[in-house]
Formats: sequence, C-alpha cells, structure tokens
Amino acid sequence: MTVKRQLSMVMDLNKCIGCQTCTAACKLMWTNRNGREFMYWNNVESQPGKGYPRDYENMGGGFDADGALRLGRQPSQEDYGIPWEYNYEDALMTGTDPWLRPNVKPTWGANWDEDEGEGDYPNSYYFYLPRLCNHCSNPACLAACTRNAIYKRQEDGIVLVDQERCRGYRYCVNACPYKKIYFNEEISKSEKCIFCYPRIEKGLPTACAQQCVGRIRWIGYRDDEEGPIHQLVEKYKVALPLHAEWGTEPNVFYVPPTSPPKLGENGEQLDEPRIPQSYLESLFGPRVGEVLDTLEQERQAKAEGRDSELMDILIGYKHAEMFKLS
Ligand code: SF4
Ligand code: SF4
Repeated sequence: MTVKRQLSMVMDLNKCIGCQTCTAACKLMWTNRNGREFMYWNNVESQPGKGYPRDYENMGGGFDADGALRLGRQPSQEDYGIPWEYNYEDALMTGTDPWLRPNVKPTWGANWDEDEGEGDYPNSYYFYLPRLCNHCSNPACLAACTRNAIYKRQEDGIVLVDQERCRGYRYCVNACPYKKIYFNEEISKSEKCIFCYPRIEKGLPTACAQQCVGRIRWIGYRDDEEGPIHQLVEKYKVALPLHAEWGTEPNVFYVPPTSPPKLGENGEQLDEPRIPQSYLESLFGPRVGEVLDTLEQERQAKAEGRDSELMDILIGYKHAEMFKLS
C-alpha cells in the first residue's frame, strides 16, 4: 500500500534490559482504562517464550506466499490473561487473611514467562523482544476489515481504526498475525497502537521510545537518507523485520541480539553463539548471520579505536538525536 511517507521504528535488541518502562509508559498513556485494561499496545517478551497473547505465533493470520489473506484465530481471554486484583484490605489492613491472593486464578500475562528462556547452564539463554503494532505496509488487519474502518495515513503510514466505522466484527483480530489489534468489549470496537500520533504531530517521539531507558529505539522516516531508519535498515542493513514471511511488510525493525560463545563440557569456548542462529533466523529471517557478522566487525573496529559510523549510531550518544521526525 503506497503512502507519501512511512514512519518506522528500529529497536536494537542488544540494548534492551527488559525493564518494561516502555510498557508502563504506553499503558499509562493509552490502555489503563475504558475496557483496554487487558491490552498491551507495547509489551516486552522474553525469547524464546510464548509471547503475548500466549502462543500468538501459532494463531495464524497474515498472507500466504501467493498474497492471499489468511484469517487466523482470535486469542481467548485466557490467552491474554485475565487482569486480577489482590485482597489488599484483608491481607494488609485488617489481617483477616495471612496471604496476599489474586482474586481470580491467573492464566497468563504479558510477561508470564519472563526470563525463563531455554537451554541448560552454562549455555542457557534468553533476550528481550519489545513488540508493538508494526504499522505494516501491507496490513492484514486493514485487508480483512469488511467495513473499510482501518486506514493507513498518507502522511506517515500510521495504521488507525476509524472508531465511527468500526462495528466490532473482529476480522482484523483474526487477520493480524502479530495479534496487535484488540477487541474492546466495553465499546464493541477494535483498538490498537496509534504510534502516539498526537505526539508525532507535535514532533515528539512515541511514549515508549521517549521513556526507553536502554535507548534502544530510533524513530524516523524510511525515505530520509540522513535519518537513522534509512541508515540502519537500508545503508548498513542490520535491522530486520519480525516474521517477514507473514507477508504484512512490517515497519518496525530489530537489530538481532549477539551472544557470547557456547561453552563446551570442560568450559572451553566453542565456535558457536549461545543464542542459536537458527532460532534467530526463525524470527528475523535468513539474513541474521550476515547482520551478526557486520555487528561483530564494527564492534571490533570500535574496540580497536577505529571509526565506526554504525557503532556510533547504535550507541545513541544523545537520546534526542535518535528521533528524526521531520
Ligand atoms: Fe495491522 Fe497487525 Fe500490521 Fe498492526 S501489526 S498494522 S494490527 S496487521
Ligand atoms: Fe527495553 Fe527500553 Fe522497554 Fe526498557 S524501556 S524494556 S530498555 S525497550
């Protein structure tokens, strides 16, 4: 789908510390009220893991190799995890219950399997994967909507739901393979990440990027050759989309995580990274090895005191310079 300009985000997974500040910033700004309580327009998942909603990667959606739309399944409330409260009054005020207990049986949550990862010591591993709507160039949510209620803004490619037109049919929820569009039962309409467009229109970055403690997020336009997105995605080609094979052409990109070498039985360093490359390829596609090689070479150059424009960009010395919004 052609738009005049496309706003995009790159996240460097080597810098994410899993603090969830972005998640909290987004939730406080957009989803802690009015039927959105269960939604996380931005969340951070430990990988390998089942993600949020639980096992979303196996729910289907997106497009097949011939470009035909696939309607996957909708997550159940249990897949999201039912929000719960605690018996604060009984446990902390009156002392009538010695235990602090949730008021419903928790089934899942946005960071339920946080830090579990995979593998056995000393070769266990995990990394953090922040996820939000990809504001796709070929949005499955938009293609599935029989009401033409979902649209992509010409000026910046942000994908939005027209709340006047939405009738809550939820085909969009079935169709989005990332499960980043949600059904609000209170108002019977679909809702999703709006890329903080009221902030973008004022020249400000999204709340998740503004608050990011690890400085992992860059925002800018794909066609801005001096901007960070063009440099990381097109020039150095170190930022890759998540599950490109789902056919939606995401506009959120990731610098894949490097990892220390695996250790052998006697503690010797083996010639393979601790995070299996095959696993990273299952998320970010076949170019992962090439990207990891580039990162290693450039990191080495910087360590030896040579210039590396790529490392200078990735370090992100000045937070404000990571956003180029004009
Ligand atoms: Fe639509 Fe999902 Fe793509 Fe967002 S990630 S634009 S909700 S298909
Ligand atoms: Fe990662 Fe930044 Fe979110 Fe912290 S605020 S979890 S560093 S993306």
